[in-house]
Amino acid sequence: RDEPVGAPKRVLLAAPRGYCAGVDRAVIAVEKALEQYGAPVYVRKQIVHNIHVVSTLEQQGAIFVDEVDEVPEGANVVFSAHGVSPMVVQSASDRGLHAIDATCPLVTKVHREAVRFAKQDYEILLIGHAGHEEVEGTMGHAPERTTLVNNPDEADTVEVKNPDHLVWLSQTTLSVDETMETVRRLRKRFPKLQDPPSDDICYATQNRQVAIKKVARDADLVIVVGSANSSNSVRLVEVALDHGAKAAYRIDYAHEIQQEWLDGVATVGVTSGASVPEVLVQEVLRDLADAGYVDVEPVVTAEEDLMFSLPKELRKTKSGAT
Ligand code: SF4
Repeated sequence: RDEPVGAPKRVLLAAPRGYCAGVDRAVIAVEKALEQYGAPVYVRKQIVHNIHVVSTLEQQGAIFVDEVDEVPEGANVVFSAHGVSPMVVQSASDRGLHAIDATCPLVTKVHREAVRFAKQDYEILLIGHAGHEEVEGTMGHAPERTTLVNNPDEADTVEVKNPDHLVWLSQTTLSVDETMETVRRLRKRFPKLQDPPSDDICYATQNRQVAIKKVARDADLVIVVGSANSSNSVRLVEVALDHGAKAAYRIDYAHEIQQEWLDGVATVGVTSGASVPEVLVQEVLRDLADAGYVDVEPVVTAEEDLMFSLPKELRKTKSGAT
């Protein structure tokens, strides 16, 4: 930090960054569906929250819709990585749609927890952001029993019916630190609050936050590649600012880097959200190199090798077995 004027320019490149296993699977699911069934393939909501991925798939024949009632009867529809509520599955079935479920298995895990706790008469406090598709899907699995807690301040005011039979669950892409603060404040009011059986904030979200924290300590500027509606990308900007970056910005494309961001900057940290293809990061590195940031040092805090198998609807073998 506080490099002397004229300090050598460098990039600290966070790893892990970019595509997670759930995004990879969802994008491949749309590509495979196009291959198996031909265009058009309908996709309910953005398959993943990245503008570049969505426009690339559109060019290949995917049609993105907001709701299943916009899909012609009998057509193929893919549910996005963020998951859907049972009502959406029912509407698709009522319309005779062939649904391919690209919900990330780590989101499905949270759905199952919600269903299980609701069956056991728990009241569920879901920590997450109102209006996010994942939150709508998870709440839809236990609508009568779930109350949303958007942030730590809401933990101080949320009303519950039975503080003795209470569990918290969360969206998968939140800030780990902020969520722990929300839980701390909830537990102060409700000491019997139960934890989820395992982390709901997924491995990819956690790993990207750990990596950017390490980068941010030494960075004058952090650039996060990711779209505005990508929860985990937006969190990376906040985490970078909380952990020492003097400035941090989110961009979709390299050309959005503004010249003045680089004024007096010796060290630029770079990362990308879980829905971001690596090609977009490489374009950022190219532009930074053109601006004199040629030296790129990887900052590796974890190795990732998780992969998920494709949605079962796409796993047909030649003999027709699944
Ligand atoms: Fe799944 Fe996490 Fe990726 Fe979301 S960010 S798709 S929960 S692995």
